[in-house]
Amino acid sequence: MFVDGKHVETSRSGRTFDSVDPSTQQAWARVPDADASDVDLAVAAANQALVGPWGETTGVERARVLRSIAEKILQNLDYLAELEARDSGRLLRDAKTQVRLVVDWFYYFAGLADKFTGQTIPTGHKNMMVYTEAVPVGTVGIIVPWNAPLLLLAWKLAPALAVGCTVVVKPSDYTPATALALGPILQEAGVPDGAFNVVTGFGPAVGEAITAHPRINKIAFTGSTATGMLVGKAAMSNMTRVTLELGGKSAQLVFEDADIESALNGVMNGIFVASGQTCMAGSRLLLHESIHDKFVAELVKRAEAIRIGPPTDPSTQIGPIVNAKQHTSILEKIATAQRQGATLVCGGGVPSSVTGWYVEPTIFTDVEPDMEIAQEEVFGPVMAVMKFSTEAEAIELANNTRFGLAAGVWSQSVHRAHRVSRQLRAGTVWVNTYRAFSPAAPFGGFGHSGLGRENGLEAMRSFSETRTVWIEMEGETRDPFSV
Ligand code: NAD
Repeated sequence: MFVDGKHVETSRSGRTFDSVDPSTQQAWARVPDADASDVDLAVAAANQALVGPWGETTGVERARVLRSIAEKILQNLDYLAELEARDSGRLLRDAKTQVRLVVDWFYYFAGLADKFTGQTIPTGHKNMMVYTEAVPVGTVGIIVPWNAPLLLLAWKLAPALAVGCTVVVKPSDYTPATALALGPILQEAGVPDGAFNVVTGFGPAVGEAITAHPRINKIAFTGSTATGMLVGKAAMSNMTRVTLELGGKSAQLVFEDADIESALNGVMNGIFVASGQTCMAGSRLLLHESIHDKFVAELVKRAEAIRIGPPTDPSTQIGPIVNAKQHTSILEKIATAQRQGATLVCGGGVPSSVTGWYVEPTIFTDVEPDMEIAQEEVFGPVMAVMKFSTEAEAIELANNTRFGLAAGVWSQSVHRAHRVSRQLRAGTVWVNTYRAFSPAAPFGGFGHSGLGRENGLEAMRSFSETRTVWIEMEGETRDPFSV
């Protein structure tokens, strides 16, 4: 692990567990299996750094450190991408793109570190000066999933450090490697000992110890909605601040006036990239009835042509599923969709050309809104297609979900694009594009897709408390009991 500036073993148990390469199903790394006592040590180090060296830095100094982190991550790009690809099964070239994005995140929040200010507030009190200060929320527990380990960590780490917080990170037990590798990189960039800590282990032991820890001031969590609900409840027992980035069942609405070629590209990108293992996957496709059959036929052709293979092979277009549990869960959801009467028009099985946890790109048509495949997140390369005849029906179908992370609208009518976007209950709406994101643009979900927003100024606010200061300027504080 990485605690108080050093790589360490567990303090008590001495246990370890293996990280498995999903493309070979072989263990390739061994990391400590921590418990609550390790979390205590990491939190103590982070609390100490908060009142010590990191807490004493100015925004200007933190900006410098964050820029240096960005430079050092760039210098280590190939190394970090390789660790990420082996741990998660992500394609090596995608992993490189993601590490490049991580660099952007640190540069962006370096830019905000010395510009994030309070306000002076005019009030009805003539003798009072009132101003606010943005104060670091304190020590932050960061809990991340396996599907984009380093990027989702950066979404939290960069703004937390920019505001002046210290952190204890729990990476997913499936993908611990890159968080551990960041330790020395951050140290070299000038992050003092104790400000960045990584504790490896499992949800019930390490995750729960972090979420219920009385000396952690905020939890920044990305993961499934089921775990997010547990995290939220545990955090509330200490009034710990919490942001939750959770699951999704995002809809792509393709109208009859869409640029069909762009829509096909966007729909393919939305569901099959990273084998569908993305929170923002466009897993429900809503097609106008007049274009339905031709659009589906073209999608099937393209999906069947996708090259499935090991992440390190440059010709591979989609790689494996991260682990056996997830692989089984996807196949079960495919079987349920068939049992409930959806029509399988493409894929649905395990490819015979490769060994490992792979699933073929899969498309279902004749999906009814109340089927499991239309309501539950699959987190795999599986798309549910539904038909609509009017704009109102499309909007109703899109909003018929407990989730609300993202949506795609495909239409060449500027009127329709605006009209439909403003009626969608989703944290991000993409029009004639999909999966675009930036450190500057807030990201998060409505409903069961989460709580709060990451990125942009909203992220800086979510890692700070507001202190309001009132100053009496005339020396005339009255005796409250005089008549
Ligand atoms: P998960 O909820 O199983 O695990 C997420 C993290 O929480 C892991 O580090 C895990 O060890 C930890 N954890 C497990 N139990 C815990 C507990 N009781 N207390 C505290 N921590 C605990 O999710 P996953 O399977 O790793 O990731 C996939 C999920 O993440 C999908 O649902 C996906 O939609 C979601 N996700 C959301 C976003 C977003 O930005 N909204 C981004 C990526 C992934």
